[in-house]
Amino acid sequence: MKFAAAAATDQGRVRTNNEDAFLVDDKRALFAVADGMGGHRGGEVASHTAVEALRAAVASGSALNDAIERANTAVLSRAAGDEELTGMGTTLTAVIPIGGRQLLVGHVGDSRAYLLREGTLQRVTDDHSLVEELVREGRLTPEQADAHPQRAIITRALGIDDEVDVDVYTLDVEPGDRVLLCSDGLTTMLRERDVERLLRTEREPQHAADALVDAANASGGEDNITVVVVDVLEVDPPAPPDPTALLVDGEGRPEEAASPQPAPEPPAPARSKRSRLRTVRGALLVLVPLLLIIGVAAGILGWYARSSYFVGADNNEVVIFKGVPGGVLGWNPTIDRRTGIRVADLPQLERDRVETNSTRGSLATADAFVTRLAGATTTTTVPRTTTTRPRTATTRPRTTTTRPRTTTTRPRLAP
Ligand code: MG
Repeated sequence: MKFAAAAATDQGRVRTNNEDAFLVDDKRALFAVADGMGGHRGGEVASHTAVEALRAAVASGSALNDAIERANTAVLSRAAGDEELTGMGTTLTAVIPIGGRQLLVGHVGDSRAYLLREGTLQRVTDDHSLVEELVREGRLTPEQADAHPQRAIITRALGIDDEVDVDVYTLDVEPGDRVLLCSDGLTTMLRERDVERLLRTEREPQHAADALVDAANASGGEDNITVVVVDVLEVDPPAPPDPTALLVDGEGRPEEAASPQPAPEPPAPARSKRSRLRTVRGALLVLVPLLLIIGVAAGILGWYARSSYFVGADNNEVVIFKGVPGGVLGWNPTIDRRTGIRVADLPQLERDRVETNSTRGSLATADAFVTRLAGATTTTTVPRTTTTRPRTATTRPRTTTTRPRTTTTRPRLAP
């Protein structure tokens, strides 16, 4: 895959320091935004420590979620060595390509990832914030959340506990797609439609990044603002059919399912009886273990096929399938549950995920995704605009001193 990326960060017009950090690692196509919190130098140290640990972990071969867990450990151990840094933490939202046609987004906290496709902005990540959780549970409307005095409280961050839950999203991408990572200093100052407009009109990633930061400052700049803009220039061609998909012919020889038959071998010269016996014994020595392996593999595939679930579409309705998309060796997926959610009501991003059957795993995973989809249909019908929200510094509740983003004041919500 090929990318063009740019970033911009600014301390804003109210804060006296910049506790955000970002990463643009063109070599590995690894991009990230972190928003630190904590007194003194804490926030700044936390976000930079996390971003550097993420980069080092990915460079040493870690998968994205492992790398984010290592960033968590790095922030914790950095804080443990310095009393001034006690209680510091940070958000982290990172993106890296996987498989040549997809992006993996790893996410903890209330920084965000967005996807701009054909001029339309879709939010990829869910905020780990108190108000967003209340919105997801149906206890607040998005409008109430925008004006909520506790909207700055986050419920997940790096540097708080030994273990951190990392949300991981897989995005199928196409050339022309644009990914935005940003800290909340952007999204609390700008409406999503303004972000969308700027991302659509500024063609150069650097111009887009600068324009977003300028616009957030023009709207008040009440927090540090950081954005990373990543343009997908090229994706890899589709992978060839899986050559490990073997069928077995009548004589137990493996042969590839859809490939042309090899030319028949010339008839072997006549051989002695002893030589034929040796051949039979040799063939059995190969054949018996091969059949055993195939039998065991078929059993494992069958178990796998029947024990996994995925979310897909049937007659324009979101349904949970039991099995594997496309089926495996005769084990075809069956409808386990219908959800009553219309595919057409979903935002484009979620619709893509349903139509490509990209959510696979346990029944619990499928259930969780469906719950999310149910939320997505309702949240899209309620416009997420913030036109009625007070925008002056005096009436807005987000100031440095009242922002309760430390371990001690953070409410411990059940996950
Ligand atoms: Mg912030």
